[in-house]
Amino acid sequence: MALPITTTTAAVLVEQQQPLVIDEIQLPEVLDAGQVLVEVQHSGVCGSQLGEIAGVKGPDPWLPHLLGHEGGAVVLEVGPGVRHVRPGERVVMHWRKGEGIDAAPARYRWRRSPLEGDRLNSGCVTTFQRHAVVSENRLTRTPDDVPLDVAALFGCPVTTGLGVVENNAMLKPGESVVVWGAGGVGLNIIQGAALVSANPIVAIDLHDNRLQLAARLGATHTVNARGLSPKDTAEHIAELLGAGGADAVIDNTGRPDVIAACYGLTAPRGGRTVLVGVPKHDADTTLHTLPLHFDQTLVGSHGGECVPHRDIPRYLKLVAAGKLDLTPLITHRYRLKDINRALDELRDGTVTGRCMIDLAPNA
Ligand SMILES: [Zn+2]
Repeated sequence: MALPITTTTAAVLVEQQQPLVIDEIQLPEVLDAGQVLVEVQHSGVCGSQLGEIAGVKGPDPWLPHLLGHEGGAVVLEVGPGVRHVRPGERVVMHWRKGEGIDAAPARYRWRRSPLEGDRLNSGCVTTFQRHAVVSENRLTRTPDDVPLDVAALFGCPVTTGLGVVENNAMLKPGESVVVWGAGGVGLNIIQGAALVSANPIVAIDLHDNRLQLAARLGATHTVNARGLSPKDTAEHIAELLGAGGADAVIDNTGRPDVIAACYGLTAPRGGRTVLVGVPKHDADTTLHTLPLHFDQTLVGSHGGECVPHRDIPRYLKLVAAGKLDLTPLITHRYRLKDINRALDELRDGTVTGRCMIDLAPNA
């Protein structure tokens, strides 16, 4: 069956370290097995898209391609075999795999593409566009009373942040935690740490606006590390924590010198260092690994190991019960045509919490 629409507006990554190009693109003519056509209402912007644009993982073999991995959307059409969502339902768009078919990425076309047949690459989920064809297992239904901008936060920052607390740091009440980097994910880690009554909760960032929000969400101590080396910052934090180090130290920066500082701040007996920020492809860290043979652990997080269909409904109940307030996290809003400004302002720290791209037709 042919799709009800044939084109949409999208932001395309054409070249690394260049602004995105906003243009009309051609949707696939039909949906393949497990694919779903959605109308994207809101998309968050994540540090990992900044990394993709900057090329932190090295040259990008998929250019030109679409971007974005967290959204709130309405289902328009479903392809063969789709059983978990239906037209008219509201959904979270997420990058972690949930239930349903793991479908192939959609085949879009773009008249300015240098690729054969005007091909435009995309992943199993992309959100910087008004309409998207995504894999069923990247969608999780949400109740009608959850605003779709709040729903978009469940695509990455909230689920990653709470997942890090639960599954990677395994924080218990009364344990100490240091969160290095209080951006979109870091703020949610802080909120999650507060939910499980960790104490103290130390937030480190370079921007006072983010630290103020961190304090509002539950950080008991905030440290602005601007002008300080990670080593000096760590010394300051160690003093603050007293002897023994922190039960959990979480890096959201991906910077080798910060990773080393986080590792050094972790309690050698039973402490967990959790790496959430992704390092540059050629950035290495040197660590003294002896404590790992005893009781200290070092772990890399993959989206907080969140299982979307299990965790999102559970977290939504906390929102409904008033125990998890996500509205303060959305601090900046942009229209799709201004997405490059959103990226610049996320990069330079102007954006405090999450920036939301509003994609509804009248936005
Ligand atoms: Zn993300």
